[in-house]
This record gives sequence, C-alpha cells and structure tokens, in this order.
Amino acid sequence: MIDDVYEIYAVRYAHHDRQSPENFLGGDPHDILQPLAYFVWAIVGPHGHYVVDTGFDAAMAEKRGRTITTPVVEAIERLGIDPASIEDVILTHLHYDHCGNYDAFPRARYHLQDSEIAYATGRLMTHPVMRIPFEVDDIVTMVRRVFAGRVEFHDGDEELAPGLSVHRIGGHSKGLQCVRVMTRRGPVVLASDATHLYAHVNEGRVYPVTYNVGEVLEGYARIRRLAASADHVIPGHDPAVLDLYPSVSSSLEGIAARLDVAPRQVAMAAMASPA
Ligand SMILES: [Zn+2]
Repeated sequence: MIDDVYEIYAVRYAHHDRQSPENFLGGDPHDILQPLAYFVWAIVGPHGHYVVDTGFDAAMAEKRGRTITTPVVEAIERLGIDPASIEDVILTHLHYDHCGNYDAFPRARYHLQDSEIAYATGRLMTHPVMRIPFEVDDIVTMVRRVFAGRVEFHDGDEELAPGLSVHRIGGHSKGLQCVRVMTRRGPVVLASDATHLYAHVNEGRVYPVTYNVGEVLEGYARIRRLAASADHVIPGHDPAVLDLYPSVSSSLEGIAARLDVAPRQVAMAAMASPA
C-alpha cells in the first residue's frame, strides 16, 4: 500500500485582484476584494512525476490582465523537478489559465477528457460567450499534439496509476476533470475548477463561467465523495490554500505548499466567504 502514496505540491504562478461579485453567479452582496490565485500542481510518487495543468505565460497574462507571480517553469524547477523529465501532464480542462506554456514539458503526453476536446472544437465554440475562457492557439496546439501522438484521452473515471485517477465532473467546462491522489493522509482531490474557491463548494454557490449549472452543483457532491473529508478537497483558485497548507520550504513561502500533509489550520468545511 505504501507504494501507492504520493506527495502533492500546489504551485501558485499568478494572481488577479477582483471584487467578490465577479466570483459568483448572481453577484455577491458583500462586494469585497476577493482575489483569485492561479495554480498548477505537481504529484510525486513511486510511479513517476505528474504535473496537473500548465498555466499561462507572460504574453497571456498581459492579454488577460493577470499578474504572473512566478513563471510556471521556474516554479517547477524550484521544487527540484526538471520539467524536461515530466512524462505525464494532466490537463483538467482547456481554459486559457490551465493549458498554456506549450513547450514547458517537451517529453510529456497529455491526459484529457474526450468531451473537453469535443467541446473546445465543436459547435458551441461558434458562440462568442462560450469562447471567452478559451484561446484558439491553445486548442490548435492541443489538436497538433493529438496528431503527434502525445495525447491520452479519458472518458469519465479512469485510473492512471495505482492511487491516481481522473474523474470527469463537467459543469464549469464540459470535459472538466478532477484528479484524485492517494496520500498518507488519505485521498486528496485536486478539484481544479470544479470549485474555484472554498466558498463555492462549501456554500453551494456557482462561479459565473459555467457550461452547465446543474453539473457544477452535482460536482460538489462528487468531489466531496471522492475525497477523504472536506479538508481533502483542494479548490482551483483559492489563495487560502497557501495559508492553510505548509510551504514546501521557507524560500517557497507564498509559492508552493504541501497538500499531502495535514493543513496548518483545520475547519475548511466551516470556511465561509468573507463577510
Ligand atoms: Zn481556472
């Protein structure tokens, strides 16, 4: 059993200051500062190293008005991981903040849900509002990887290695998948954008960018079931993750945190959006 236990690192690479009404369908009456953090994740285990999502680069940060705090490749290297050695990248979905930095992992094969590539190349992309979170160059790059034999597709729930599996959630994007990772504290779910902030899953609220509201809400129950407890669900964009979990080292404070160890503070399930 011990062979199937992994370490997980949350790596914050970018930041966006915004007011809370931007983070919830229907707005938020508090109208307070509620920034988003942008993460990639690294999983280290006996069956190899995995990277979950690839972030965006400086040009995309400029285009989208986001601030890069530590470039993705630099942050991965500072964990002691050589990006060129990575053989598996799991893309949770194809929104611009999850699948850029095309050349960062030159040896990797990319794990993606069937329904995500179909969605991102299909009829719903003819609607401008559905295209907003996508970038055509990201999608074309993904199609080129398909033709280069560098994509492994998944349909629903699939195990990539003992103790490591992907699960289609949908909702925020049609083929959004989360990643379940067995750790020494039990199964942790990297929810990615199945819940942007703790407030979404804990309060049953919905992020405004949504393919299907019903799937978002059902997804909250799903990620909770897949995780050992509410404290084992890791949201995709909550700056609190770096406060709740111990940093990898003092030099990586505010950049990278360990998710396979217990949080510094408990009571995530009780965390509400700031009042
Ligand atoms: Zn996102």
